[in-house]
Amino acid sequence: MADIIRLLPDHVANQIAAGEVVQRPSSVVKELLENAIDAGATEIKLIIKDGGKTLIQVVDNGKGMSGTDARLSFERHATSKIQKAEDLFNLHTKGFRGEALASIAAIAHVEMLTKTEDDEIGTKIKIEGSKVVAQEVVVAPKGTSMLVKNLFFNIPARRNFLKSDQVEYRHITDEFHRISLAHPQVAFSFYNNGSDVFQLPGNDFRKRIVHIFGRKTDEKLVPVEEDTQVVKISGYIQKPEFAKKSRGEQFFFANNRFIKSPYLHHAILGAFEGLIRPGTHPGYFLNLEVDPGTIDINIHPTKTEVKFDDEHTLYAMLKSAVKHSLGQFNVIPALDFEQDQNLETPYAYKGKKVGIPQVVVDASFNPFEEVKKSKGGTSGNYTKTSAKGWENMYAGLEVAVDHPSSNNSTLEFESEVVNSSIFESDNEAADHVTHTFQLRKKYIITTIKSGMVVINQSRAHQRVLYENFLKNITIKEAVSQQLLFPLTLSFTPSEIEILDEIKDNLCTVGFVFGEVSNEGVEIKGVPVLVAESEVQMIMEQLMSDFQQEVPGDSFSQSDMLAKTLAKTLSVKTGETLDEFSQQKLVNDLFACKESTLSPFNKKVYIMITENDIERKFI
Ligand code: ADP
Ligand code: MG
Repeated sequence: MADIIRLLPDHVANQIAAGEVVQRPSSVVKELLENAIDAGATEIKLIIKDGGKTLIQVVDNGKGMSGTDARLSFERHATSKIQKAEDLFNLHTKGFRGEALASIAAIAHVEMLTKTEDDEIGTKIKIEGSKVVAQEVVVAPKGTSMLVKNLFFNIPARRNFLKSDQVEYRHITDEFHRISLAHPQVAFSFYNNGSDVFQLPGNDFRKRIVHIFGRKTDEKLVPVEEDTQVVKISGYIQKPEFAKKSRGEQFFFANNRFIKSPYLHHAILGAFEGLIRPGTHPGYFLNLEVDPGTIDINIHPTKTEVKFDDEHTLYAMLKSAVKHSLGQFNVIPALDFEQDQNLETPYAYKGKKVGIPQVVVDASFNPFEEVKKSKGGTSGNYTKTSAKGWENMYAGLEVAVDHPSSNNSTLEFESEVVNSSIFESDNEAADHVTHTFQLRKKYIITTIKSGMVVINQSRAHQRVLYENFLKNITIKEAVSQQLLFPLTLSFTPSEIEILDEIKDNLCTVGFVFGEVSNEGVEIKGVPVLVAESEVQMIMEQLMSDFQQEVPGDSFSQSDMLAKTLAKTLSVKTGETLDEFSQQKLVNDLFACKESTLSPFNKKVYIMITENDIERKFI
């Protein structure tokens, strides 16, 4: 048989390598910004269009390249940063693999303009899909400009895989945040579709954080400082009370390189334990400086996952450094026993007469008697333990869905009769006396003709709220309650951008906005279902959901909004529901268009037939 193994041509090898290095526009941004930093630039400009899909340009004032170097830089494994394998253990640059430019040039139209300090004239090179189409000498300022157009022009599958412009833009912004935070002394500017997004002067770390995340951030920061032989830790954590629903502001840098480390993240969580509300995330901006020989950055092409020699020690030091800062800056609430309340006379009571305390006894109280339950829910004797006001659960919805609320059996939707029939065929249900029972503050159990249904209360409520919100959004008829005093919530500039995109839809569910500035937003009205105290939490949840993925079209945006609101506002496991609420929930659930699944595709209820039960007794 003839030999069949061949070496791949360079342009094919480059395309394959590009698959690893360039996943999306933000990967190009990362590589180009890092090259500019490695070139010693003090000013870097980033320009993008259409989420980076049509254009990404990085202009730096770094050391530039000679004509020959400019040509060579696009070859695979062409790098000026290392020469021998040992250099890998003493890295001081971002790049070293010599793959980025070759990869980018394999899958885009690239134009490079570069000039060194010493040269009189510069070089311009045009490459399309690894082919050099032009190289000429030109007049140019010192430094390098890299223009990358039409990403993935020759790989339609990859191009189609890209998300909407907004999502890609968000990824680029994340990358820009990471690199500009890692290099606060370098001045950065960022333009998106012709408008100016960031102008960051060269600064110290704290000011850089504040420039990026907004003026309000300053008061949230607590410094962390620890200098040991193994590691030098510096940077800031955010005070526990500012912990957010979103994970947005969590940054580790190792030797000025943004890294991801679930392990070290865990150390921070440990230090914050007990200080933040469940479901919220602490913010941190921490630099770890270690000997370059004790860290391996070579394990992943994008170099965000790194390996430290002594991770355990690092973990312990990080945790104790953060704890120390939390304690030192008095952000841990004073422990109760330090202030014995018996010893303190509240000021208002000074000089007041002492009266005989009155004891009120309920003579009819019998500890052995069960608490009487309200029948049919008319007495309003709520066994409510949840702080959020269960009786508000449906307030407003009834107004919004516009049906005679006095009659529970009226189905609000023209729902498939299939669902509601399980009650209608039941004699008891026909009299509207559906008996329900709450199990372990998690399930509602009710009977049907053929047996029983076990309903997950939280998922059921999510479904009911979801369909109602979706309806409100489509018919634009939500009821909102005006706030007596408008709330001002502060957000970072990128959150404000998200808000701009979803504001119209938020108005359709009942939010009323006042002034929106760079740093915050005024909220004048909220949907009837939302308590004022919950607004901040809901907005944070919305931001964080949308930050992950901004849906492109308005339909999926409405869907996401309805989902987030349903998730946030639904009754949760662990909340006691009185009988009236239980029954209302059951009725509303089975009036839904789709009652079997939650908006997140989880089973809402299970049925256990009499047969099933009988079989257990055999
Ligand atoms: P790496 O950064 O891993 O060395 P790249 O493919 O990113 O590989 O770049 C190849 C080489 O091109 C670099 O080693 C550097 O010498 C040169 N280079 C790239 N970008 C710039 C720039 N903006 N300014 C000066 N030199 C650059
Ligand atoms: Mg590089």
